[in-house]
Amino acid sequence: MGADTNMFSRLQNIVFDALSDVAAERGVKVFVIGGFVRDLLLKRPSKDIDIVVLGDGIGVAREAARRLGNARVSVFKTYGTAMFKYKGMEIEFVGARKESYSPGSRNPSVEPGTLEDDQRRRDFTINALALSLDRDDRERLVDPFNGLQDLHDGLIRTPLDPVVTFSDDPLRMMRAVRFATRLGFRIDAVTFEGIKSNRERLKIVSMERVMDEFNKIMLAPCPSIGIKLLDQAGLLELFFPELTALKGVEYVDGVGHKDNFYHTLAVLDGVSKHSDDLWLRWAALLHDIAKPLTKKFVDGQGWTFHGHNHVGERVGGRVFQRLKLPLNEKTKYVQKLVFLHMRPIVLSEEEVTDSAVRRLLFDAGDDIDDLMLLAEADITSKNEAKVKRFLTNFQIVRQKLKEVEEKDAIRNFQPPVSGEEIMETFQLPPCKQVGEIKNAIKEAILDGIIANNPDEARAYMFTVAAKIGLAPSPD
Ligand code: ATP
Repeated sequence: MGADTNMFSRLQNIVFDALSDVAAERGVKVFVIGGFVRDLLLKRPSKDIDIVVLGDGIGVAREAARRLGNARVSVFKTYGTAMFKYKGMEIEFVGARKESYSPGSRNPSVEPGTLEDDQRRRDFTINALALSLDRDDRERLVDPFNGLQDLHDGLIRTPLDPVVTFSDDPLRMMRAVRFATRLGFRIDAVTFEGIKSNRERLKIVSMERVMDEFNKIMLAPCPSIGIKLLDQAGLLELFFPELTALKGVEYVDGVGHKDNFYHTLAVLDGVSKHSDDLWLRWAALLHDIAKPLTKKFVDGQGWTFHGHNHVGERVGGRVFQRLKLPLNEKTKYVQKLVFLHMRPIVLSEEEVTDSAVRRLLFDAGDDIDDLMLLAEADITSKNEAKVKRFLTNFQIVRQKLKEVEEKDAIRNFQPPVSGEEIMETFQLPPCKQVGEIKNAIKEAILDGIIANNPDEARAYMFTVAAKIGLAPSPD
């Protein structure tokens, strides 16, 4: 099978021509390898180019960079690699190498090797394809492990015995799932067995690297595929026991609850259809995380999960910490959505009053659209009539949200009367009463007693002050 590779872009051709020239002059062989070749054959865009040199990779990098307008070369001597950027592309060079691993470490000992040695150390056959940049046989595909066939068949397979590949570098187990999820490929049965039997070795990989891969899975068009694979392989429970704890259905007196693991995955996919935002996807993944902790069977009510949103907000924070995810405004955003996730549904079940909508807008602020997306995706019932009723009610909530926001501008609520103004008007030092008045004004706006404007707010301020026995200062 030949490769249809006559499709380098103009810029890529400039780079490859320069490399062919340098290779010819130095009498060395140079190949494009890895993800770039895979994506080229799949007709997927890719920015980064990996080059393997049978010889001095750093020297070839320096000379090629010189010819391409003197790009600055970063050299990593310890690894024998070099990199430069050219018009938005990152071009990485490595001398062909052979790696051998010792158990307990992810850092192999490395020695120069042949092209095939270099291809052997790659994770999957589809990532081990190489294209020659030799002037004489430019674009010849070097494919000792049938990677091209696997690309056609949509198969993730290791070039060597999977037990060796995964034991050498257990991060590859996460990468297998990532590629399967992103490309919509199957993991070959023997390869999958290799993952299962090596799963415990994931423990030697740092959480940051595991999360790098996990987040790439989360960003795939249908992330549930990857999470189910991680679960089936026995990897998920190793680093995310809170999520696997959602699995299963319990029955009391013949009454069961839904399986919250599969429900969560359906919500995650639902949100992912409408948004590429990683953190909104995380909010979907964590929205019911505290259900196992709050689950109770109550006679006459069936299964209840009281306060699971509130507990979930805390558990979510702890999960972020343990998984070494960023602890910043993104964590707060995820926690906020977990906490609020039921509000639009509860609202839509009742008569949708303006004041309830105003309170929702106030609490969600700028995250209201994301919250609505999450709440809508949360409706995964199989009962079509129920789903229809909810979705219709949601339309009403959305419409009301729009109307109320246009009228009252609650989304980015700023107190219409400041604390300073209250202090000046009643000659007060900073004290509890100032807060009380401010809060009373806010509540009156949210309840629709007054409109959100300074005139009505000021008038109301005097009413509240009079009630607590305050008089304005004479001037
Ligand atoms: P993407 O750029 O979409 O993340 P990629 O395959 O290009 O995908 P990189 O992580 O940049 O991913 O890796 C480039 C190449 O290096 C891979 O195609 C593969 O050949 C090799 N590679 C990367 N990581 C590993 C690993 N852990 N084990 C073996 N080979 C690897």
